Amino acid sequence: MTSTVLTMTTSATGATATEGAIPGDTVTDRLVEANERYASAFTDPGMDARPVLHVAVVACMDARLDLHEALGLELGDCHTIRNAGGVVTDDVIRSLTISQRKLGTRSVVLIHHTGCGLEQITEEFRTDLEMEVGQRPAWAVESFRDVDQDVRQSMRRVRTSPFLLHTDDIRGFVFDVKTGLLREIDPS
Ligand SMILES: [Zn+2]
Repeated sequence: MTSTVLTMTTSATGATATEGAIPGDTVTDRLVEANERYASAFTDPGMDARPVLHVAVVACMDARLDLHEALGLELGDCHTIRNAGGVVTDDVIRSLTISQRKLGTRSVVLIHHTGCGLEQITEEFRTDLEMEVGQRPAWAVESFRDVDQDVRQSMRRVRTSPFLLHTDDIRGFVFDVKTGLLREIDPS
């Protein structure tokens, strides 16, 4: 973890230095600068908040998964709901419920992926945290060993939620980070 953070800091510092930015610029400063360029070319597409394709995509937060590129999605097409693992937690159900009942989506696409960080850790992570900070997190880590089975469980959680209006078009996939291809998971 520490080495990842250090690498990021080094990379950000190197990039900003070549652009002549003042030392001490953070990665967030870089993002804000990028946003200024984005906004300068931006024109109001005049859309409302309802996704054009009536679909919500629930996916892992993994940095190698570019959902819009990988699925051919355009601005305004879908809701994207992401967390560590693409796990269907209570909070994901909260977002899906609002997505369906207030913003008109009907389909749900679940995307997990190969090489997920959650395969590397166990529920012991919670115990480790408790030992370190003196408080046990209320949430489950939701680590897993079998990604196909994890997608099936996620599909089941969406399908059986009493809060959702539409559970007839729920499909689950594993994204291969090496090939960019989706592999569909049989729900049964
Ligand atoms: Zn992941």
